[in-house]
Amino acid sequence: MTPINLSNQYDNDFIRMVEEQSEQKMNRCYQCGNCTAGCPMSFAYDIPVNQIMRLVQAGQKDTVLGCKSIWLCATCGACTTRCPNNVDVARVMDVLRQIARREGYAGVNGLKEFHDAFLESIQAHGRVFEPGLLAKFVAKTGKGLADFSLGPQILSKRKISLLPSNIQGKEEIAKIFKRFEKGAAA
Ligand code: SF4
Ligand code: SF4
Repeated sequence: MTPINLSNQYDNDFIRMVEEQSEQKMNRCYQCGNCTAGCPMSFAYDIPVNQIMRLVQAGQKDTVLGCKSIWLCATCGACTTRCPNNVDVARVMDVLRQIARREGYAGVNGLKEFHDAFLESIQAHGRVFEPGLLAKFVAKTGKGLADFSLGPQILSKRKISLLPSNIQGKEEIAKIFKRFEKGAAA
């Protein structure tokens, strides 16, 4: 695990931003560790989720937004369910990703680009269109070509389609994105 950098200045604006956008009170967390104990992604995190909560309380913006964990979070909600203080931890993680994306932090090479390509696919089709996502990811990063050799196997098993299929009501999904973009710009 990477040593945590606590040398940054206490950033009160960062705490306020996280609290406002997540509608959570960070000082409710008393570091019981239940969220980390139930987190299925802990094995891959560079900072466990309870420590992320503590670092937000301590106003350590650069350390939090620069970590890998916020990008690896699967948004499963186990942390939220397990928190004895009703902190919606998964929502805090989501807000941290949004702030990191907006402010140009990227804890893992290519992850921000993958995240963007994923969201663009959902916005366009209401669901993930894998070949389109891969094409966008390669266009943004130049990476991913190594995995093209897996294409024939996946296609022969009919796991993915070469043509996008939109869900019913994809316009409603697109409206959610528009609302979010409007809110973020306000
Ligand atoms: S939402 Fe994220 S941080 Fe919370 S338990 Fe799931 S993977 Fe872990
Ligand atoms: S479960 Fe809740 S109170 Fe416990 S460490 Fe996680 S966020 Fe804090």
